[in-house]
Amino acid sequence: MAVRPILVVGNPVLRQKARKVSQFDRSIQKLVEDMIETMRAAPGVGLAAPQVGVPLRLAVIEVDEEVTVIANPEIVKRTGEYEPDEGCLSVPGFWGHVTRAEKVTVKAKDRTGKDFRLNAEGLLAQALQHEIDHLDGMLYIDHPGVVDELKRTEPVRRREAVQEEAAGNGEPRVRQGRRPRRTPPPPDAVPADEPELSPEAIG
Ligand code: ZN
Repeated sequence: MAVRPILVVGNPVLRQKARKVSQFDRSIQKLVEDMIETMRAAPGVGLAAPQVGVPLRLAVIEVDEEVTVIANPEIVKRTGEYEPDEGCLSVPGFWGHVTRAEKVTVKAKDRTGKDFRLNAEGLLAQALQHEIDHLDGMLYIDHPGVVDELKRTEPVRRREAVQEEAAGNGEPRVRQGRRPRRTPPPPDAVPADEPELSPEAIG
């Protein structure tokens, strides 16, 4: 198993409509294992294959210590509506409120290629919708109104404070292993001071 790098917004693979998984061979099993490890390391609630640069309709989700692997998923039923907090590993440093169905029924194949149906609610339902969006090249910030009210997560603010301090005394500090933050929305879309707690990234 290996942790793979997670692509961030701006990478074209995140904007492709992913292809169906047709063979559930050893390379897919290896990909699934790597995706689970990458999701846990991030950490995130889920991860879709395009986020690690593989344009296939495949995602992993872990809620309440239960891992769900979905290949070629389809949402066949949606019930209710709410606006949970949501973040994405491919949009680091931000979170927002997205309108999601409260409950969904998803039809998919498991990692061996066997068909199954899943009735989900709460965080699992939210994660399913988030990951299936990824397979269609969609990010949560594309949902109506989300970008206008995006919020910064706390770690980014702390990092910026460190960078400002470093810039002040002429000794920029670069932390190893950290990718430079890429800002997806225009700066004026981000409220400067809203001390809200940051939710966990969905995936
Ligand atoms: Zn995501």
